[in-house]
Amino acid sequence: MKPVVGIPRALLYWQYFPLWQSFLEGIGVETYLSPPTGRQILQDGLAALGTDVCLPVKVAAGHLLALRDRVDLILLPRLVSAARREYACPKLMGLPDLVRHSLSLPPLLSPVIDRYRHDNWPLIRVALAVGRRVGAGLPAVLRSLARAVECYRRYLNLLQAGYFPQEAWEAAGAGQAPDPRAPAGDVVALIGHPYTVYDREINLNLLGRLERAGLSVRTAEQVPEATARRAAAALPKHLFWTAGQQAVGAAFHYLEQEGVVGMISVMSFGCGPDSMTGDLIARRARRGGIIPHLSLTLDEHAAEAGVLTRLEAFLDMVAAQRERGVVVCG
Ligand code: SF4
Repeated sequence: MKPVVGIPRALLYWQYFPLWQSFLEGIGVETYLSPPTGRQILQDGLAALGTDVCLPVKVAAGHLLALRDRVDLILLPRLVSAARREYACPKLMGLPDLVRHSLSLPPLLSPVIDRYRHDNWPLIRVALAVGRRVGAGLPAVLRSLARAVECYRRYLNLLQAGYFPQEAWEAAGAGQAPDPRAPAGDVVALIGHPYTVYDREINLNLLGRLERAGLSVRTAEQVPEATARRAAAALPKHLFWTAGQQAVGAAFHYLEQEGVVGMISVMSFGCGPDSMTGDLIARRARRGGIIPHLSLTLDEHAAEAGVLTRLEAFLDMVAAQRERGVVVCG
C-alpha cells in the first residue's frame, strides 16, 4: 500500500501545488492537505519555532504540525535554486533541517531542487526521488510527470490571464484553456511572496479588502517570468534571489502600466530578501512619484487596527489621484 503524503498549505505550496498534486495523484498516491491557515495553526507555529524566523516559516511549522497525526510522509522539498545562477532564500533551503530538529513529525520527503547546478533535468530528478520513496515504477513516474508539467503550464497561463491561484488550479485541473480576464476597474498591484499575498490569515485579507474597495488586484505571479526579468534588468546588478527578481521585475512592470493606480509591497518582518527588494520597489515608485505606494511589513504582532489605518490612508490617496485623473505612472 502506498503511503499517504501530507502537503503543508504554506510557502512553496502557493507556487507549486498543481504540479505536486497532479504528479502524486498520477502515481497513485493519496495526498492530504493541511487546512487553511487559522488561529490554531498560527499559534502552534509560533509556539514551535520561537522568534528567530520570519512569519511565513512559523506559519509553515503550524501547517506541518496539523499534518502530524494524519499522514505517513510529508512533502517538504528543499528549494536551493529555481534558476541558473540564482538562489532561494536560505530559510527555504534549510527548512527541512530546521523542522526535523525542532518538531516531532512523520518522515519528510525532501527532494532537493537545485537548478543552479543541475539545470537540465531538475524535475525528473525530483520526480524519480519521490517515485522511489513511495514505490512507484519508472514508467508511471515519467507518464505522471509529463501530465503534471502540462497541468502546471495551464496553471501558469491562467495566472497570467488574470486568475488567482485557487481558481487557476481548479481550472487547470479541469483542463481548461485560459480565458483572459481583463481588470474590472482601476488596478492596484499587490507585490510580495505568494504565501504572504494569498494567505488571507497572514495578511488580514488585503486582497479581499482591495476588491471590496472597488479595485482590481494584480500580483507578481500574474506577470510572465520573461517580462519580469526584462523589467528587473533595469537594476545595475542582477538580483540573485529568483523570488526577488520576480517581485522587483513585476513591480517595475506595473509601474509602467496604464490603469495601475497604486501599489502595495507586502513584506515579512525578519525577511532579509524582502528588506532589500521592498526598498528597491519603494525607491522606484517614489522616483516615478505619480501613484501611491504603501510598504506593509507583517509579523505575528501586526495589529489589525494599525494595518487597516494605513490601508485606509492608502485608499484615500488612490481616490484622490483618481479624482485628479492621473492614473499613469512613468
Ligand atoms: S524569503 Fe523571506 S519570507 Fe520567504 S522564507 Fe525567506 S525569509 Fe521568510
